[in-house]
Amino acid sequence: MTDTDAATVTTPDAAALHQIVDGVFAWVQPDGTWWINNAGAVTGAEGTIVIDTCATEQRTRRFLAAVRAVTGDAPLTMAVNTHQHGDHTYGNSLLPASTVLIGHEAMREGLLADPIIDGCPPVWQPVPDWGRVTRRVPSVVMRSELTLFTGSRRVELRHPGRPAHTTGDVVAWLPEERVLFSGDLIFHGVTPLMFMGSVDGALASLGRLADLDPEHVVPGHGPVITQAGLPDALAGIERYYRLVQQTAQAGRREGMTPLQAARHCDLGEFATWPDAERLVLNLHRAYADATGAELDLVQAARGRGGVQRRPDGQRGLRTVPDVASGTRSTLSQPRLPPSSARPVGAGPRTIASYGYGGTDEP
Ligand SMILES: [Zn+2]
Repeated sequence: MTDTDAATVTTPDAAALHQIVDGVFAWVQPDGTWWINNAGAVTGAEGTIVIDTCATEQRTRRFLAAVRAVTGDAPLTMAVNTHQHGDHTYGNSLLPASTVLIGHEAMREGLLADPIIDGCPPVWQPVPDWGRVTRRVPSVVMRSELTLFTGSRRVELRHPGRPAHTTGDVVAWLPEERVLFSGDLIFHGVTPLMFMGSVDGALASLGRLADLDPEHVVPGHGPVITQAGLPDALAGIERYYRLVQQTAQAGRREGMTPLQAARHCDLGEFATWPDAERLVLNLHRAYADATGAELDLVQAARGRGGVQRRPDGQRGLRTVPDVASGTRSTLSQPRLPPSSARPVGAGPRTIASYGYGGTDEP
């Protein structure tokens, strides 16, 4: 499949292994939305280093089969998880038992505590079909840096120094080949998510990635980024982070909840990025960081910050019945501010334009 084909097909069925430089591969799954991640493989004289797995059994098996098709009998000696999220880790159990699995120590703790692999809350539409995957966590953990080799090929694992997308992010940097596997520190053309990390930290991490001056970037989601395209890609993500910060500041000043602030936010240029509803979750994080409060991730993601399937029928978060009372959330019909009652394209592109139907916080 050519890059052009991959760009025009928008389901994970169109996933393809792209050779970035000789022996370095990116597994890119369109369209990069919820649970549809990228992964990678770095080959060398002592075997292959895998970077991330996928959310489901089927997707991970396809990824590993594609890697084996280009590496033959070479062993999968090591695998790295860029962070704890299931789209990058649930397929770990399908790696050979002999593969040494590596991640940040906070990533390991996070996957051990992950409740979704055991019983996915009915927050996503459709609920992913995990298949036969089981929880497998790293047996080697790191804090700041760790360097891997396969033969003479060097892979540097680096933590951004503070919470960003999550608390245990790691990028894989190949200094000789100038290839960066960024994990979810970079979403390319897809709305970023940092509700389990830090908005300020995610913003700060962009400069560290730019300083590497990579020639190729494999983002956690979305198409591979060239050296020429990187400044624009990073600048767009930075503007999104700043929009989240400004929206949170204004919302707190006005006494709005994160949801209310999201509904009043004009997404502007980011309205075309899939998974726009992540703004609500990102605002929950910005609010929690500003107040030092603990963020209830599950409550933020389900009724308290849930989002309906978008009107165009694409996947995404959706509202769920109030589990405690057994009734539909009383606020599941969105209370739209007047400006957001306009149809999409007729005014400010707000969360409400995307069928937002979550509930306000008590
Ligand atoms: Zn991801």
